Amino acid sequence: MRRKIIAGNWKMNLKYDEAKVLAAAICEGEGTYRHDVILCPSFLYLTALAEILKGSKVALGAQNCADREHGAFTGEVSAPMLASIGVPYVIIGHSERRIYYHESHAMLKDKIDIALAHGLKPIFCCGETKEIRLDEQQENYVERQLEDSLFHLSEDDIQRVIIAYEPVWAIGTGLTATPQQAQDMHHFIRTRIAARYGRDIAERIIIQYGGSMKPDNAAELLSQPDVDGGLIGGASLKADDFKAIIGAV
Ligand code: PEP
Repeated sequence: MRRKIIAGNWKMNLKYDEAKVLAAAICEGEGTYRHDVILCPSFLYLTALAEILKGSKVALGAQNCADREHGAFTGEVSAPMLASIGVPYVIIGHSERRIYYHESHAMLKDKIDIALAHGLKPIFCCGETKEIRLDEQQENYVERQLEDSLFHLSEDDIQRVIIAYEPVWAIGTGLTATPQQAQDMHHFIRTRIAARYGRDIAERIIIQYGGSMKPDNAAELLSQPDVDGGLIGGASLKADDFKAIIGAV
């Protein structure tokens, strides 16, 4: 039985004090949580939040990392830097990075490799745009994302990756994939992993859903057999909403 993992992607939101208050509020409820929890704040707040989360089961993740290990790359933050402050998870390939910062499949492959080489666990995002779905090409598109950035990994390494299926048309739009649409794509992703790595490994990989998950739709999405948690944007910024999602199902 796979465990479910709920991750909050705070994106470029919250001032320092607000972030600390929110992290403390999330920690407070942890005794009642049914799922594992990861918070992904701004890089700037990672060390302060690590202090707040110390001793709790809530883990930290970064929202991105560089596609190089070190050097003259002004403004970048590398996987070894994140590892050196004890951050266990890193989101890689969020659609906002792909769209606004032109991150290619090849670049994301490099990020995945560097993150894994430094002991981080990537949360790899994939998902189609509205146009691709209207064209009914979503499976081909997601398969290519997996093949180009993930399926070069060894059997050991692929099991350290969490996959987040995030249809771009559902991110921050209020539109959510129906539970059946989410289940269909999660099942498809698992069949592709099985074809490449075998059924046992495919059954162990966590596949989160992301895209306007909220307290009122979380239970139905999370009860789909292949939906192993959520990557939550907007609703992770409100303690009560995020806790309701963690408590769902
Ligand atoms: C996200 O950015 O990963 C996300 C799923 O955002 P939202 O929940 O706001 O749609």
